[in-house]
Amino acid sequence: MNKNIFIYCEITEEKQIAEVSLELLSKGRKLANQLGVQLEAIVLTDKATAELERINDFGVDVIHLAEHKELFPYRTLPHFKLVKAVFEQEQPQIALFGATSAGRDLAPRVASALRCGLTADCTALEIGNHTENKTGTEYNNLLYQIRPAFGGNIIATIINPETRPQMATVREGVMKLEETSCKKKAEIKTIDVSKYLKDEDFVVEIIDRHIEAQKVNLKSANIIVAGGYGVGSKENFALLHELAAVLGGEVAATRAAVDAGYCEHERQVGQTGVTVRPKLYIACGISGAVQHRAGMDQSAKIIAINTDPHAPLNAIADYAITGDLNEVVPKMMAAMRYLDMRYEI
Ligand code: FAD
Repeated sequence: MNKNIFIYCEITEEKQIAEVSLELLSKGRKLANQLGVQLEAIVLTDKATAELERINDFGVDVIHLAEHKELFPYRTLPHFKLVKAVFEQEQPQIALFGATSAGRDLAPRVASALRCGLTADCTALEIGNHTENKTGTEYNNLLYQIRPAFGGNIIATIINPETRPQMATVREGVMKLEETSCKKKAEIKTIDVSKYLKDEDFVVEIIDRHIEAQKVNLKSANIIVAGGYGVGSKENFALLHELAAVLGGEVAATRAAVDAGYCEHERQVGQTGVTVRPKLYIACGISGAVQHRAGMDQSAKIIAINTDPHAPLNAIADYAITGDLNEVVPKMMAAMRYLDMRYEI
């Protein structure tokens, strides 16, 4: 029986494979190599474009492709039926979805229909073994689905010893996008749409769509100046915007700062926000809760500014400045301006 790794690939408005799906293909390739199995992608769209070729940069062995005019944009029922049908036929051991609105809608339905588990918003995926305490049963090569749990008080490793596929969703930016050196043309397996979909699967009609352009792009910023609850007010955040402007960076925030109304939600970094990997992350008035660190601990250099010398973020910071951000940040800007230098990275 086929026991491969499957990635559900989302299609963007621009008819490209979504970034999060490419990130999952990168991770999927590594897991597949480790397990010695194939990596397979599922693409459901109205018409496959040349953009699909991008999949070949990620060492995918097989693409399960369905083309039908009603398959783009995403709608729950047709996508659910087709993914379920492919999984029932192909019996994957692992299936990964982006934690996007479509992925969050689709993955739980598929998991429920197939009666297997699903771990949402994983921050890491690894392969490992497990021995059941009571029975001594040994399970090899399970997918460790790792994520913060119980309010971030623990990092849980979740496994599905018995059910397949082992399913997980992952947010954009959590896995690193890495093309493989062994690019190859994937075999295309066409999904017979008419076999699985009936008229009633298209009962939901899309009458009108409004697409809001992304205002902030934290993911591609080389420098991020992030503020936490310690910034104290929306007005004080202006100081961070000023520092970001001096450095040519973007402003981000913690959830506490967003909840307090200091900053817009699209700037939230962390487990329930964006995951970033900038070259420089300046954290101002941020304690360093695990849910925040999950979104920024891969930054190349971290500077933490905090009045508390024992703030948890200091433990992962390259430079920890103990002091009031209202004094430290203006000094940093003055120094930058004096040197008339922009941080060129
Ligand atoms: P605090 O923890 O209140 O820290 C404020 C810091 O500012 C303190 O260290 C203090 O010493 C310092 N400070 C105060 N005044 C000054 C000053 N004048 N100068 C310098 N330093 C000062 N959080 C996220 O950020 N992102 C997420 O995606 C996220 N997701 C979550 C998901 C779940 C399910 C849960 C339960 C929580 C989540 N959280 C998330 C919240 C997280 O647990 C923390 O509550 C939050 O990150 C704390 O934000 P903070 O560091 O800004 O605030």
